Amino acid sequence: EIANDYYLELLEQGEDIIGKPIFESLPGLLDQGIKELFETVLESRAPYYGNELEVYLPRNKKSKQGFYNFVYQPIFEQGEDISGIIVVATEVTEQVLARRKIEESEYRYHNLIHTSNSIILILKGEDLVISVVNDSMLKTLGKGKDLVGKPLLTVLPEIVEQGLGDLLHQVYMTGESNYGYEVPVYIVRNGKKELSYYTYVYQAQRDLDGKIDGVSVIGNEVTPQAIFNQKIKESEAQFRQMANLMPEKISNANAAGEVIYFNQTWRDYTGLSFEELKNGGWQKTIHPDEIKEVIKSWLHSVETGNDFEAELRIANKLGEYKWHLTRAVSVKENNGKIKMWIGATTDIHNQKTKEETKDEFISIASHELKTPLTIAKAYIDLLQMNLQKTSKEDFMYAQKAAEAINRLNGLIGELLDVSKIQNGKLGLNITEFDFNEMISTAIEGIQYASPNHTIHWSGEIKQLVKGDKERLQQVVINLLSNAVKYSPNANLVDIHMAEKNGEVIVSVKDKGIGISKENVEKIFERYYREEERATHFQGLGIGLYISYEIVQRHNGTLWAESKLHKGSTFYFKVPIIYEAKKL
Ligand code: ADP
Repeated sequence: EIANDYYLELLEQGEDIIGKPIFESLPGLLDQGIKELFETVLESRAPYYGNELEVYLPRNKKSKQGFYNFVYQPIFEQGEDISGIIVVATEVTEQVLARRKIEESEYRYHNLIHTSNSIILILKGEDLVISVVNDSMLKTLGKGKDLVGKPLLTVLPEIVEQGLGDLLHQVYMTGESNYGYEVPVYIVRNGKKELSYYTYVYQAQRDLDGKIDGVSVIGNEVTPQAIFNQKIKESEAQFRQMANLMPEKISNANAAGEVIYFNQTWRDYTGLSFEELKNGGWQKTIHPDEIKEVIKSWLHSVETGNDFEAELRIANKLGEYKWHLTRAVSVKENNGKIKMWIGATTDIHNQKTKEETKDEFISIASHELKTPLTIAKAYIDLLQMNLQKTSKEDFMYAQKAAEAINRLNGLIGELLDVSKIQNGKLGLNITEFDFNEMISTAIEGIQYASPNHTIHWSGEIKQLVKGDKERLQQVVINLLSNAVKYSPNANLVDIHMAEKNGEVIVSVKDKGIGISKENVEKIFERYYREEERATHFQGLGIGLYISYEIVQRHNGTLWAESKLHKGSTFYFKVPIIYEAKKL
């Protein structure tokens, strides 16, 4: 019946709709429940107030969403009759949409908090009243949603005891955030005190004016990781402590070779502080004769990753140099890159000086013994010559004395050889010779002295050999006499020789007492004798050491294969043509 201009504009209609039934002009309203509303008003005879009703109205030929506050007011004629309905509406679309946006963002924010795996707690006001607490937080606290609205410190007194209440207060008062990393916190769950670890931040919350109105707690429970890290720290501390207690000097170096750790023993020995040692002090403690070589080979190890080993003299706090053995091995990452070096330095001064004294004594003693022995031998030779004509019996005695003196001469010769090797003075006298003949003379000598054994010989070297005939014969004699000596209950010794790839290979095989697996390498060391056997067999423990050196000087190798109680085979090979090593 009547429509104002604003209404017509809103409906995009002209004045022609006046005088027509509304749903005829605006069929689009029919399915939006408006007709029903009118009917309700007519039936109930009471006004209808609509609040933010969503209605689609035509706009530019399309229908557009709008929200309206309105009243449908029945018009009463005199008497009881309703003659019409007045519609008064206000469009509130903008307000509704704006509010929805806020609600939506709040919903998202809420969702974010509640679905987060991090623990989140928002506390309001000075009393730190819990206003938001997410499920993760409730889970870790072992509490229910009824916490909300209560001051934190009354529901979680154990937190106050541990000083966290004070921290939260401080954040509230100062606005400065507080960060915690793997902090241990006791929490009472189901009446039991349990330890958990958290990494968290306490942050001040501000209102729109920037005034602090609360504190937020955001964090993660990191118990397994924290326990793991703690274990690592503990075990590292234990190892450090162990390293400090060790009599050895222990050090660590980084991948670049810089030494970054010295244990207490290092500090006690050198009298230097950790800082002093680290900043070049350790180099200054090394004897000037060794320092150059040590640094060179250390840098080589750092470059190649090879183990480092050196004997060197290190000065103690009184400035006295003592011999040490230093070893370092690299610790590698999974990809093979060097992570660090671990070094152990052992005091070998006593051992080293003892060996030196022993070597020195042996050298002097054997030289001193040599002269009277040579004189005695000359007289016995003379005596033998004289006795040969006069008394056969006395001649025999002199013969025995001569043999004993020869043996003694041999032993002293060996001792002198050791000193020569020690001083780098074991020279070779290189000639060309018949190897077969050299072997045959050696066998003859041994066979003569040990008639109970049979020495069986096979193989032949067709070429002349270039080397030190005497020294190589010394090796053969040593191997053969050992084979005889260490096979008291077997009587066969086999010696075989062959040529292969420009080398002579000689093997000496016995069926004697054999050598245990762990000793088969050690027997070539100077003065080494198998302990439990030393009493049964005479010897100085230097024959194989000398043989080894002789073979090595010929650029060859000497080794043994053996089985305990079954026998041993010793092998050596040397180039047929000796060539001096180029330096
Ligand atoms: P020595 O025979 O004077 O002890 P060597 O240097 O010749 O010194 O030998 C070192 C050690 O090697 C011997 O003490 C012995 O234990 C062991 N050995 C050497 N040859 C044999 C062998 N053929 N059979 C068993 N053990 C042997």
